[in-house]
Amino acid sequence: MIVTCKLCRKLYNGEGRICPECRQRLDELYPEVRDYLRDNHKLEFNVETVAEALDVDIRYVQELVAQGYLDRDLPEGVSSEVLSDRQKLIKAFESSIDKMKADAAVAASRKSVTYGQEIYGENTKRR
Ligand SMILES: [Zn+2]
Repeated sequence: MIVTCKLCRKLYNGEGRICPECRQRLDELYPEVRDYLRDNHKLEFNVETVAEALDVDIRYVQELVAQGYLDRDLPEGVSSEVLSDRQKLIKAFESSIDKMKADAAVAASRKSVTYGQEIYGENTKRR
């Protein structure tokens, strides 16, 4: 069936949410993200900082998290400490994505409510 790629908005014939090209892009991006996170594990991460550091579209980083890329590929015999670090990281990613969505929703609703007040209300009152 013909579907729209969630990432590049291209129509493609196939299954799932993203097109084969984007899927390949994610496969290539994943090791970069993983290495970045490993090399900088002392830093606080969120999706924005990783996307910025790697110079990629933030939606690709979000998609990596959404697709569970960061959940898989744990080395054999990994210690529970490393594992919990990884889980913390994934949690941090997920919460930063949730926060962005929430912020966007708040910004959208705030805009419609206060637009008139910002322009005509407070400014004129102070004069
Ligand atoms: Zn695509």
